Amino acid sequence: MINPHNFDIMDPQNDKFKDECGVFGVYSSRPMDVASVTYYGLYALQHRGQESTGIAVANGEEIKAHKGLGIITEAFNKEDLERLRNANGNISIGHVRYSTAGSKTIENSQPLLSSTKLGPIATAHNGNLVNGDVIRELLEDGGHVFHTSVDSEVITSLIARGSKRGIERAVIDAISAVRGSFAMVIMTKDKLIGVRDPNGIRPLCLGRYEEGYVLASESCALDAVGAEFVRDVAAGEIVVIDENGIKSYRYSENTSCQTCSFEYIYFARPDSTIDGLDVHTTRVKQGEELFKEYPIDADLVVAVPDSGIPAAMGYAKASGIPYDIGFVKNRYIARTFITPSQEMRERAVAVKLNPLKINVKGKRVILIDDSIVRGTTSKHLIDSLRRAGALEVHFLVASPIVKYPCYFGIDTPYRSELIGANKSVEEIRETIGCDSLGYLSLEGVYASCSGRRNFCVGCFNGIYPVSAPMEALDDNLER
Ligand code: SF4
Repeated sequence: MINPHNFDIMDPQNDKFKDECGVFGVYSSRPMDVASVTYYGLYALQHRGQESTGIAVANGEEIKAHKGLGIITEAFNKEDLERLRNANGNISIGHVRYSTAGSKTIENSQPLLSSTKLGPIATAHNGNLVNGDVIRELLEDGGHVFHTSVDSEVITSLIARGSKRGIERAVIDAISAVRGSFAMVIMTKDKLIGVRDPNGIRPLCLGRYEEGYVLASESCALDAVGAEFVRDVAAGEIVVIDENGIKSYRYSENTSCQTCSFEYIYFARPDSTIDGLDVHTTRVKQGEELFKEYPIDADLVVAVPDSGIPAAMGYAKASGIPYDIGFVKNRYIARTFITPSQEMRERAVAVKLNPLKINVKGKRVILIDDSIVRGTTSKHLIDSLRRAGALEVHFLVASPIVKYPCYFGIDTPYRSELIGANKSVEEIRETIGCDSLGYLSLEGVYASCSGRRNFCVGCFNGIYPVSAPMEALDDNLER
């Protein structure tokens, strides 16, 4: 299900695709402060979701959990964390959420807890199911009562229903029934399980941590807790970690890793490595590829901070044109920043990103961003560079034209709101007001990813690894 989120022009981040969630899990062969390990792991994944945060801890007998709305420092106070630490557990999972399917309520926050024949389980999910509504209806017809509106409860319910066959079998049966994207961590009272969908759309990696293991959406979370990166969980793989060590199962014959290319363009932290590709390096190469495709005669390369910085550095390196700071970012704007008047709303981008006049005045400037979604922020930034005295503003985008929505856990606007779905490049250039505009080609994206082509690029070309739900397509086309 795609939500028509209200767009707030004040926040440059609102003119971006939004990732949905981040997951983290830790297993230790002896009791330790696993709640704090998860806490710090989630801190490192906070960019993947800021609407709610939750941690669950298992101690061999029971599962204790705490969830709250907001980022981790809002959702947890000292006492909340202390209660989980006092559970004296050895397994923990955690989740940060940005809602696409399901509303922003505490009930919809994760980890989700459920009772099964094997005892309690907790689940945390990053992704989106394309057949979640159909399975939900089937289960409801059979008398099942759902407590949340999130897809993740569909998977949790399927696992609970199959639990009499053992947890491994129940997980395999449950995820074999669903289609879409899922990188999940599942915790029973004595096991930690990691699952990645058959197309590996959302990332999940495994690390070694003291006397145990961690699982995380991104490797930056492994670094944050001092774990050693072991490998990515493969597309269509389940890893089960318990007192006997780690076991791996391939639950689907039909696997083909097609990781979301937007992880490399914008979502993931630059200090993460996903499926063997270093995110920062791919972004620098996107800039180098941009220079091959658009060798522009200019005086200065600047970036839209922070996500455009590596590509701008790559362009500068390839072209020999100096890179410097073009915008100063105000780091102290609260997420709930609200301005009352229309006039102030229109100035709000400048409150967050203000051009550095001393650098841009009298220069022919190349401005680089990772993507254009609606184009409203791009227009404000280009206008502000001109007001600051830039002689020319050439806008380069380190990704292809975003023309289609995402069905795999990324918050995307309706096609009517995607500027790339509705205008030609020349019309977009006119709308946002730059002297020239260039988008990186799909071939350029592949070249920046070491020539690999096994990625989801659905929002660029409309071809998805898993077919989109018909009702979502109809709904999207109507708007
Ligand atoms: S459509 Fe594919 S590439 Fe685009 S955001 Fe979604 S998963 Fe990523």
